[in-house]
Amino acid sequence: MNDTRRRMLTEYLGECWHEITDKGPYQSTCSKCGMTFGAIHTSDWDPAGFNRTFTTAQDMVDLVKRIERVGDLGNFTSFSYPKWGEYCAAHGYPKNKYGGHIAWLITDPARTCELIAEWMEGEHET
Ligand SMILES: [Zn+2]
Repeated sequence: MNDTRRRMLTEYLGECWHEITDKGPYQSTCSKCGMTFGAIHTSDWDPAGFNRTFTTAQDMVDLVKRIERVGDLGNFTSFSYPKWGEYCAAHGYPKNKYGGHIAWLITDPARTCELIAEWMEGEHET
């Protein structure tokens, strides 16, 4: 996932997309929220590494909780269901299998996070 989408999803969750002022290990802070990252710096420190990747199950769960809380889960389901159909057609997978859509969503968090980003971008195009 690109940084534009990662940032959009992070802010959708109400969290800071950290922009790190690199003052070196143990001295760096986010220029927006002031959070310090000294405690977790390592020798392979990467300023971009402090933001969510949207590749993990936790990232996906947090997004789905947010979508549900704002009442958009039906809209996302309507968006993702045909995407699942396209996936099934492309992979010779039986689309009529009960629960298949849900299983498809929850077993690949990175794909689902990407799908959520795609859905959100579409919501803003109108
Ligand atoms: Zn921050």
